[in-house]
Amino acid sequence: MDLERPLPQPITPEAKPYWEGLREQKLMLPRCRACRRAFFYPRVLCPHCHAADIEWFQASGRGKLHSFEIGYQSFNKAFKVKPPFVLAMIELEEGPRMMSNLVGIEPDPKKIRCDMPVEVVFEKQTDEITLPLFRPAGGAR
Ligand SMILES: [Zn+2]
Repeated sequence: MDLERPLPQPITPEAKPYWEGLREQKLMLPRCRACRRAFFYPRVLCPHCHAADIEWFQASGRGKLHSFEIGYQSFNKAFKVKPPFVLAMIELEEGPRMMSNLVGIEPDPKKIRCDMPVEVVFEKQTDEITLPLFRPAGGAR
């Protein structure tokens, strides 16, 4: 299979539960046991209070489109998703924001709206790596 995207290599220990969850079609997020706030990306210290007491939980997979841009060409040769594509900053229901792609909608700035509700879709890349992409919640409108 020809890969369309550069994949993480190696997977760091602090991100392992994230990638394991995605393999099972679960979006897992780290949360601080001290201040109870979720965060992303995975790391060993809470970015809010610097506590090192981290747990993982399954996120709803729902959120909203915080911002986006439409890519008409790729500057990274390893990124072979056919342009145009939508690069999206997703604000998850649980608070953290993650960079992803918005799929299931025409890459047309007239159709895509900031704050539109989105939901996760899982796109398997290899046996090890599945990526979370997002689509308009309840189908395109
Ligand atoms: Zn904290």
